[in-house]
Amino acid sequence: MIQKELRRLYYKCINYLSFQWSNLRPSGPKVLFKRFPANIAPDHHCILCNIRSSNRLCRSCQETSLIKPQYQCTCCGVMMHHHALFCGECLKDTPDFDRTFSPYLYQPPLSNMLISFKQSHDFYAGKTLADIFVKDIKQHYMQYHLPYPDFIVAMPQHWYKQWKRGFNHAIFFAEAASKHLSIPLFKKVIRRKNTPDQKGLSRKQRLLNLNQAFDISTILNGEHIAIVDDVMTTRASANALARELKKAGAGQVSVWVLARTPK
Ligand SMILES: [Zn+2]
Ligand SMILES: [Zn+2]
Repeated sequence: MIQKELRRLYYKCINYLSFQWSNLRPSGPKVLFKRFPANIAPDHHCILCNIRSSNRLCRSCQETSLIKPQYQCTCCGVMMHHHALFCGECLKDTPDFDRTFSPYLYQPPLSNMLISFKQSHDFYAGKTLADIFVKDIKQHYMQYHLPYPDFIVAMPQHWYKQWKRGFNHAIFFAEAASKHLSIPLFKKVIRRKNTPDQKGLSRKQRLLNLNQAFDISTILNGEHIAIVDDVMTTRASANALARELKKAGAGQVSVWVLARTPK
């Protein structure tokens, strides 16, 4: 009975492989690419309203579907239910960074786009998000007449995590901001430790995890540095990097994240 089943599977595999081979053989591997229309990359449809758009989200959906928090902590960017300068956590335990700019809440469709960018390498979703992020940073700094930081640093990833994913999404956002705002990138930082996800850990565990996680190989002279990342869930990573940047001589540290996870 088992032998019969194995033989059936064996012939099924052979049939499938010979069918695939006969498909490929006439023109070689080019057949693989012929299945996709040549202009698939720029010819998108908005994922929400399905109209043709050069972005994953058309302009009108960008304005209506991305959720902006009404009140936020000026220090860590967490959403609050009433107007106040700082949230309870920042009042109790002031972080090492000075302020956070985080224009959106980590909710669909933004969260779905971010996941498809990071996990399925959908760089068009990534580009759409980067464009939105940079536009918001520009608008915020103009509205409040704030000076831009001297450098932008992408939240570093441990080499193993980066190798597994194939790229560091924070560098993608940081490069977009650096290019459009004409702020140089600060690259003299690496992540020494491959830290697990900080969510769900106690404060003590988070501190222990991130203790000496970053290494900065230069001395700073009071510069203002902006840390760029996609999402802030806990303040732990940004705080640990800000601490190291200040130890190296940074004067001010801002955090720019596209979205903040609601509590
Ligand atoms: Zn749309
Ligand atoms: Zn706060």
